[in-house]
Amino acid sequence: LKGSSDHMSSAEKEIEKALRPLSFGDFAGQDKIVENLKVFVQAAKQRSEALDHVLLHGPPGLGKTTLSHIIANELNTGIKMTSGPVLDKPSDLAGLLTNLEANDVLFIDEIHRLNPIVEEYLYSAMEDYKIDIMLDAGPNARTVQIGLNPFTLIGATTRAGLLTSPLRARFSINARLEYYDAKLLSSIVKRSAHLLATPIVDEAAFEIARRSRGTPRIANNLLRRTRDFAQVKGNGTITIDIAEMALNALDVDKDGLDDMDNRILSTIIEKFKGGPVGLSTIATACGEEAETIEEVYEPFLIQEGYLKRTSRGREATELAYRHLGVVTPIDKTK
Ligand code: ADP
Repeated sequence: LKGSSDHMSSAEKEIEKALRPLSFGDFAGQDKIVENLKVFVQAAKQRSEALDHVLLHGPPGLGKTTLSHIIANELNTGIKMTSGPVLDKPSDLAGLLTNLEANDVLFIDEIHRLNPIVEEYLYSAMEDYKIDIMLDAGPNARTVQIGLNPFTLIGATTRAGLLTSPLRARFSINARLEYYDAKLLSSIVKRSAHLLATPIVDEAAFEIARRSRGTPRIANNLLRRTRDFAQVKGNGTITIDIAEMALNALDVDKDGLDDMDNRILSTIIEKFKGGPVGLSTIATACGEEAETIEEVYEPFLIQEGYLKRTSRGREATELAYRHLGVVTPIDKTK
């Protein structure tokens, strides 16, 4: 997925790690979520109990992993990381759970992609801190119950709607991360530039922020690429001219939409008369996976008012026509 960290080289991952805020104080934005979490973390600490299970959802790159590390830091506990698709069989999960120390955090990314059998095991672990393990097979098969240390499960997902209801019901803290506004992203860009020892003018930081699709991970990526332009084509400082040159070279347009955003909009408008058209049809025409369009591109295009989701499919809005410089057909303006 674009916006996910899968495609990054290990050097890039190292930089991403270095830019990651470590405490609630360093984490910009998501005020309401952070304020609530601070209370729950402090209360759990005072009682020397595990924090209740937390579900974090929202588009990729908004800070779900970062927040999970911060929660563990603030709790002064350890954290173990895994992801839904990696937990193949119940023994994978049992191995992780039995290695947790009291009140540790277990982070499961992409929790909507858990194998249903593994998910069943998670229920009693979450509820009673117990897990049943099957010993032997065939006629000798029997289960033994193993007690676990109290722990906090933090589940992250880009698709909360795909969680089964029994799993969702077991999270007592549920937070939806929102896209960041340009002002907040600009402060994140400046903080990151400082950590990378790269001088940047305010106007350039704001320009990068404005064109980052509301997403800190994208803002940091664009900053790194812009830093390369400043180094090679300038004197090392990220000026507004350097920022514009870099953003244009990276195909990020004036409104912050990238190549695929524009391809999706122009496909709907030019090939399907502005819609409504089904997601899978759009995906085929754009050469992108439907899942990626739904998780990564569409939420931002909808939030910015370029796209509408209707019962009959996706429709381009007037703003999309204006953005692409295409005249709106009269029957679409009603
Ligand atoms: P997610 O898990 O939601 O995909 P991450 O937590 O991996 O997103 O965040 C991606 C990157 O964006 C991190 O490396 C971090 O540096 C940065 N980031 C995310 N949220 C914030 C924030 N609120 N303040 C500063 N940096 C952030």
